[in-house]
Amino acid sequence: MAFVNENYLKLPGSYLFSEIARRERQFRSENPDCDIIKMGIGDVTKPLSSAVVEAMHQAVDEMSGQKTFRGYGPEQGYEFLIEKIIAHDFTPRGVKLSVDEVFVSDGAKTDTANFQELFGVDTVFAVTDPVYPVYVDSNVMAGRTGLYNQEKGQYDRIVYLPCNVQNGLKPALPDVKVDLIYLCYPNNPTGMTLSKDELKTWVDYARNNRAIILFDAAYEAFIREDGVPHSIFEIEGAREVAVEFRSFSKTAGFTGTRCAYTIVPQEVMVYDSNGQAHSLNKLWLRRQTTKFNGVSYPVQAAAAAVFSEAGQRQIKETIDYYMANAAIIREGLENAGYTVFGGINAPYIWLKTPGQTGSWEFFDKLMREAHVIGTPGAGFGASGEGFFRLTAFNTKENTEKAIERIKTRLS
Ligand code: PLP
Repeated sequence: MAFVNENYLKLPGSYLFSEIARRERQFRSENPDCDIIKMGIGDVTKPLSSAVVEAMHQAVDEMSGQKTFRGYGPEQGYEFLIEKIIAHDFTPRGVKLSVDEVFVSDGAKTDTANFQELFGVDTVFAVTDPVYPVYVDSNVMAGRTGLYNQEKGQYDRIVYLPCNVQNGLKPALPDVKVDLIYLCYPNNPTGMTLSKDELKTWVDYARNNRAIILFDAAYEAFIREDGVPHSIFEIEGAREVAVEFRSFSKTAGFTGTRCAYTIVPQEVMVYDSNGQAHSLNKLWLRRQTTKFNGVSYPVQAAAAAVFSEAGQRQIKETIDYYMANAAIIREGLENAGYTVFGGINAPYIWLKTPGQTGSWEFFDKLMREAHVIGTPGAGFGASGEGFFRLTAFNTKENTEKAIERIKTRLS
């Protein structure tokens, strides 16, 4: 008899997006002619840039030539891509990285979910609340948590760091000792960022407690303000305590193409029960070479084209387009009297629902009265209750129309 991994049974099921879909389906069946604008999904809407597509075409042609065909590539990625990543994304910010510290993968979801494998099952980990659910669920599957407490909307044995109006949606340091901390900035779902000084308090905490920070910078390309750190490695001392996840998904429209990378500095150490230090970089290399066979050559060639002059110009145009939408949402909602967070350095706008309106109640109201669909904050954690997420991934026309409807139709 095959026994189930009972940790999987702790998961309440991916309630959020299936419940949104269910409510939308029902509303559509009752209102078949209704023009619904979707502002809930965190997926890009603009196609790949021409520089990327041309490079991918060329790479596909190479794959059909006897001499230019490529089979298995290096598990950690081709050097032609890694060198470009370092030269464009890190060196200009004063961050020195070596080629063996960059691991190319098929997604930041994959890497943020898998990275926890390198840590002991008793490792105490902290997440912000609200949070990108992948960090939590992957640790649940690995048995690093207790049961899900339905009433609290939280798992036992996870240290939650609430982000609310009182703390300006910036988490305080944990009041219990933790070993592992997931941080995501610019943040999904709140759209908030941390300053260099704020991020330094986390790096200092990690250094003082031999903790490790898993820093998800999937939305780095959306940073608009000066002084906001693009990489945790801009912070002094971070090389000893941090791992960083990056992705081409939102940066260059690769959500359906799949390419990302993870930085694991040589200095980061984990400890065995005898207190002996082990290199996290070596362990991740061991893990990847065992379980992963690399990203396809055409996709890595396409990712490399993101760094060409044309590629950089084209992805900037697209991100500028999304961020113009973010400004429309943010300013429109502020003018309508809403308390709004994010949307300045991220494609997400996190709004406080009016009065005591619950997240799901607001979802229904928005759908029924304005025909706009967003994401209830409660779906990202207990502290997300009373908040709502809208995304800038849409056309300008739809974004303007949606905000106008929210202003004029909501009772
Ligand atoms: N990290 C965060 C915070 C995200 O919001 C997402 C996608 O929505 C990802 C990672 C996933 O990125 P990828 O498409 O590279 O798997």
